[in-house]
Amino acid sequence: MRPRATREELESVSGILREQGVSAVSSALDDISLLITEESGTPELVSAVEKAPGVDRVVLVAGAQRLTSREFRAENTEVKVGPAGEAVIGGTGFVVIAGPCAVEGRDQMFAAVDAVVAAGAVMIRGGAFKPRTSPYSFQGMGLAGLALLAEQRRRTGLPVVTEVVTPGDVECVAEESDMLQIGTRNMQNFELLRAAGASGRPVLLKRGMSATIEEWLLAAEYVMQAGNENVVLCERGIRSYDRSTRFTLDLSAVAEAKRLTHLPVLVDPSHSTGRPHLVGPMSLAAASCGADGLLIDVHTDAGKALCDGAQALSEEQFGALMGRLKPVVEAVGRTLPAARARSLAQV
Ligand code: PEP
Ligand code: MN
Repeated sequence: MRPRATREELESVSGILREQGVSAVSSALDDISLLITEESGTPELVSAVEKAPGVDRVVLVAGAQRLTSREFRAENTEVKVGPAGEAVIGGTGFVVIAGPCAVEGRDQMFAAVDAVVAAGAVMIRGGAFKPRTSPYSFQGMGLAGLALLAEQRRRTGLPVVTEVVTPGDVECVAEESDMLQIGTRNMQNFELLRAAGASGRPVLLKRGMSATIEEWLLAAEYVMQAGNENVVLCERGIRSYDRSTRFTLDLSAVAEAKRLTHLPVLVDPSHSTGRPHLVGPMSLAAASCGADGLLIDVHTDAGKALCDGAQALSEEQFGALMGRLKPVVEAVGRTLPAARARSLAQV
């Protein structure tokens, strides 16, 4: 609908659709009201809707996607994260987000954050609520972990991303962080997607480990349909038969997702490979195939990590990778943005 379309105009278009047996869901993005249908309707219906008062345009899409499709929005979406948009994902900058898999304690967070900030990460990661495969594994520090993450956010001035696992936690996680992560195990938790969408925070949506590209994009569609344009996708490896890597990093999915959607796409080379020596090569490959950035596990004492220590990069490995990444990123016409962290010595 046009920006100043009235409620009556919206209802009248719904009525035109309904008369032809086409039901529509309404949504609002960026102050624009939208009516979204599952099926396309006849050319006559399209033309009747186009002529109705208040209608701006009718967008016809080829596949199952609607708001996430390139037909809906041709240009790349840039997702700004942080109170002043300190990190921009999906623009020319190639965004490196790094930190420990899980928040384990105050000292661990200071050490890991100092390491990743010194090497040039522009955002910090760390899980407080951990969705673990086994109920006997470390489940995360919960609210106490969230507070430690928020402390690093204040100290560095860098945005933080952290996972939320239940709709009931969305509010407190949104309060203490800058971006909500939805993990692979929750990619099709539709109530969680809706709640994260309604939170107003940007959402980092990991691909389900057994999800098709279409299912992944339709999960992003749930977040957008809840009124949130700031969705970032993250390929994190899919299940295959080979146990020599933890999962199989599907880089073709990155290039394909970039073709199908305007949303930014990140790669997680840590969870996908599960092996520190593969994180470097896959990071360079991700930059070459069009990814908009990386999500990397870094731990300064990985042998003692309570979660996923086997895949974490050390401080030295992460620093070396950032140096190797620069020429590759520049070769594909992107830049490695400088971290805007406060001088940590001052705080
Ligand atoms: C994580 O990034 O901390 C995580 C749990 O990843 P995934 O959901 O991809 O396993
Ligand atoms: Mn992990």
